[in-house]
Order: sequence, then C-alpha cells, then structure tokens
Amino acid sequence: MFIKVPKGTQDVLPENISKWYYIEGIIKEILNKYGYKEIRTPYFEYTDLFVRGIGESTDIVTKEMFTFPDRKGRSLTLRPEGTAPVVRAYLENRMDRISKVVKLFYLGPMFRCEKPQAGRFRQFNQFGIEIIGTKSSAADVEVILTVLEIYKKLGLKNIETAINSVGCKKCRTKYIQKLKKYLESKKDFLCSECKLRYVKNPLRVLDCKIESCKGIIEDAPIITENLCQECELHFTEVKSYLNGQKIIFHEDPRLVRGLDYYTKTAFEIISGGLGSQNAIGGGGRYDDLVEELGGKSTPAVGFAAGLERMIIAIDQQKVEWPTEKGLDVFVAQVNENNKNTVFRLLQEIRNNGLSADMDYSGGSLKSQMRMANKIGAKYTIIVGEEELSKNMLILRNMQTKEQKEVKIDNLINELS
Ligand code: AMP
Repeated sequence: MFIKVPKGTQDVLPENISKWYYIEGIIKEILNKYGYKEIRTPYFEYTDLFVRGIGESTDIVTKEMFTFPDRKGRSLTLRPEGTAPVVRAYLENRMDRISKVVKLFYLGPMFRCEKPQAGRFRQFNQFGIEIIGTKSSAADVEVILTVLEIYKKLGLKNIETAINSVGCKKCRTKYIQKLKKYLESKKDFLCSECKLRYVKNPLRVLDCKIESCKGIIEDAPIITENLCQECELHFTEVKSYLNGQKIIFHEDPRLVRGLDYYTKTAFEIISGGLGSQNAIGGGGRYDDLVEELGGKSTPAVGFAAGLERMIIAIDQQKVEWPTEKGLDVFVAQVNENNKNTVFRLLQEIRNNGLSADMDYSGGSLKSQMRMANKIGAKYTIIVGEEELSKNMLILRNMQTKEQKEVKIDNLINELS
C-alpha cells in the first residue's frame, strides 16, 4: 500500500504550480509598491512564543498547535500564524533601531491541527503584512487598502470588508465584565464550547456560529458602544479614512477574531462563493503584543490571508489564470548516432536564455514529437543524419506545423 499525504495537507503538483507563482508574484509586486520588506522566520519556534503571543485560552493554543519536544526536551511548535514570529524577530534583531516604523511581510506555510474540510487545511499558506511602530489609524487603513488591491489585481469579485473595534485593555476589560454579567443568566443555554469560553475567554462567545448561541449573542451588549474615548476616536478615524478612499465596508460588532492580541481595529475580508470557509483574510491592530513579548510598548497593525482560499475563490469565480509559458525548444533526434551533438545543441540553446529539453529515454521520433506536443514546446528541432552532414537541422514550428531546414550556426537567430 502507498503511504498517503498526511490528513489536511496536499501536494501542489507541477500542473498547478503556475497558479502559486502567479499569486505570489502579484502579492510581492503590490507589497513592494507599498514599501513592505520580506522577512522569513523559521517554520518552528519555542512554544512559549505562541502561548504568550496568541493567548493561552485561544482555540489555536488550546487545541490546534503541532507541538513536540526537541531532543533536549524543549517544547517547539510548528508556527500556526506569522505575527508572533515576526514580532519575535523584530525584537531579537532590534529592528526598531533601523527605523521608527517598520513594514514587513511574510509568505509561507502555517500549521494548525484543525478538522480538515473544504478551504481548511492543517498545512496552509499565508501571506501577512505588519506595520510596527505607529498608532496612526491611517496605518490600519493602509493595511486594508493593500490587501484589497491584491484581491482586485487577482480579479476577485464579491469581496466584502467587515470591520469592528475590540477596544484596548482598559475599555475591553470593562466590556468583558459587562458581557459576562449578561451571559451569566444564559450560560446554561450556551453550547458546550461557549460554556468554557464564558469562563476563559468570553469575547469569543460573540464569534460562535452555533444557532443556540447566536440567539443569545444577538442581545448581548455591543463592544463598539463601550469603547473608551481614545478607541472610539481611533475607530471613527478608520471609518472616515475608508470612506475617503471609497472603500465599501460594513461594521460587524460581533467580529472578534480568534487571536487574543488584537486591540482596537479588527477586520475580516470575505469572498463570495466559498461556503462556510469564506474568510480569505483578516487582521487588525495589536498594540500590546510587542510589550507582551518583552519589548517596549510599541503599537502595530497587520493582516494575514490564506493563499489556498484565494486560489479556490479565483477558480470558483472563474477568473482566468494567465496562460502558462511552455517550453521554447524541444530537441528530437532521428536516431541515437549523434547524441553528443544533440546534447551539445540542447545546452547551447539553454545557454542562450531559452528553455529546452529532450527525451532521454531514446524513443522513436514519433514518440518524441508526441512528447514535444504534450509539454507545449513552441519549436522542435529535429536532428537527422542527412541534415547534419550538411550542417543543417530541421526546425518545426509546433503551432503552424511549418518545417524548414536551418543552418546550425544560424539556429539561435532563427529561434529568437
Ligand atoms: P487567521 O490567522 O486565523 O487570522 O487567518 C487568516 C486567514 O488565513 C483566514 O482568513 C484564511 O484565509 C486563512 N486560514 C486560516 N486558517 C486556515 C486553515 N486551517 N486552512 C486554510 N486557510 C486558513
């Protein structure tokens, strides 16, 4: 029996890799335009980073992390998200010394041991952006604008932006007390998960998708009606910048997101046609995280988006993928008598900046032509004894099917 790919993971096969290159290319192009610099952090970190960063009682930390000891018994975790590692790297590398405001982006695999379903994987890819060092509400809006521009450039339609403010330590603590008081009399009717959340992380009850909880949540006190003056002003500014940019958004007072580090602005981007896993990205402000991880108090805001869901959305919305560039030249040989010449030619074509390949299995000319067709070669060169004796080759245009004899010395000119 073959060993299969682990549950919740998938291979990206060669026929699909161009989709990834395309999306990654657009992400990098736009992030470059907005002044973000790429950072690559390890795929695993000390577990403590995520426990302290994401929050002890979050779903990610309590049940979704892939955690294992190293050989000396230190607890390591495959990164479930990118913000805590980026902040760790920011602090460790004293990036605040480079500039007051640092703009970073990352792109790569994340790991969460969730129940796999359409659009939900155990290994998935995210790109994320972080602006560290400013409390300006303009930065929150820049983050939203940046990601919306990426989705637009990819041709995605039916994109909705939901925003909320989850307040700061001060006003949120007061709000949570109010929420707990409200939930107190109703806690027996909450789902089993929310009964636990009610004790450990009552804000997360607001996010519950179970019908019985939804009814209770509907009448719960609303966080945006309980913000302190500073948070309220910040939220008003965010909305005003968004309106100024003619960005269509809606306010969702139940939007709290699954990571504890958010303060003030929280937002989510939703794409039509994705079913229940319709969030293609989300983010917000996290003004306490740098301090939480040992740095001095430093405001920051960021966003993360899942690439698999972007690909699914593009496919479902039937947006055209760019056509793949095929091979420039396939080199076919009539027989193996001249294999040295064929090999030399193949390499010479590549040395001139064109892509070229041949069939090493030494099949018949017919099967070599089939292979050239299959890999979408633009030209095939046929190396035959008779032509070689005249220092010539046959050049076949695979699209027009026209064939002509060309001089070996003139081959590169003919191809370019
Ligand atoms: P989060 O880091 O939870 O804020 O998620 C940000 C984005 O990452 C989501 O909106 C999804 O697009 C994507 N994402 C999160 N978890 C998964 C998963 N298990 N599988 C695929 N994509 C995911």
